[in-house]
Amino acid sequence: MALDEYKKKRNFAKSPEPAGSVPEKPKADEPLFFCVQKHLASHLHYDLRLEWKGVLLSWAVPKGPSLNPSDKRLAMKVEDHPIEYGNFEGVIPEGYGAGIVMLWDIGTWAPEVADVDAALRKGDLKFRVDGYKLKGSWVLVRTRGYGGRGESDGRSWLLIKHRDDWSGPVDIAELAPLSVKTPEADLADILAADNPSIWRSNRPAQGGDTGKMFEKIIARALEIKEGRTTDQDNTITKATKKKKAEDETITTARKAPGRSAKASAPAKARQKKSSS
Ligand code: MN
Repeated sequence: MALDEYKKKRNFAKSPEPAGSVPEKPKADEPLFFCVQKHLASHLHYDLRLEWKGVLLSWAVPKGPSLNPSDKRLAMKVEDHPIEYGNFEGVIPEGYGAGIVMLWDIGTWAPEVADVDAALRKGDLKFRVDGYKLKGSWVLVRTRGYGGRGESDGRSWLLIKHRDDWSGPVDIAELAPLSVKTPEADLADILAADNPSIWRSNRPAQGGDTGKMFEKIIARALEIKEGRTTDQDNTITKATKKKKAEDETITTARKAPGRSAKASAPAKARQKKSSS
């Protein structure tokens, strides 16, 4: 579980993604971090990441997680990502993964198996998550691949919600489409905060549904940007908020699993009590 593949795929002179110099030493007393990043690139997908042994194990879920236990969502295993990636939200202008990344959910996770490495080898990892949007018990199961070929390169998994208090017939991606890092931000806001005109030519997807999605988002981002230049105060407030969130996302997620970044007063009080 090194970050060689992650690094090989990216040019950090051109991408704002974290370089992740070395895998982080896991701290025994800290809960494990998890996040989901909504990523509009050549196709829209949701990247599920689970902290394990100093890196983020990663699966790209094209349709996103579903709270409905009868939905089996394809989850393609991708290269391990550095822990700092769990804070990342922004625009990848070109190259691998070019597009817009939104931090869609964060929190903590815990295995529901005794031996995580054995479960990963076996291709059957049961776990719980405690995020803002996703909660409760889930399973990742490796499949023999899709398309009926039978042969698999081992990258095809299914992400399935277990039946519990947190399951239900809810399209969570549609119900809760916004960022958990930048208040109220959608993909257009994230692009507007960066440079909405970078894809005048050569956008990450041209035709089809994804191309149309990019067209709309770029147009909206340009409108937002124009609106903002006349609203200096708002821009400054947002930038300050964003900076703060950047610094604190992973720490906050670990300390207050499943709670809003703006933790309620009782939650803060409880934290203080337990640490004193
Ligand atoms: Mn991705």
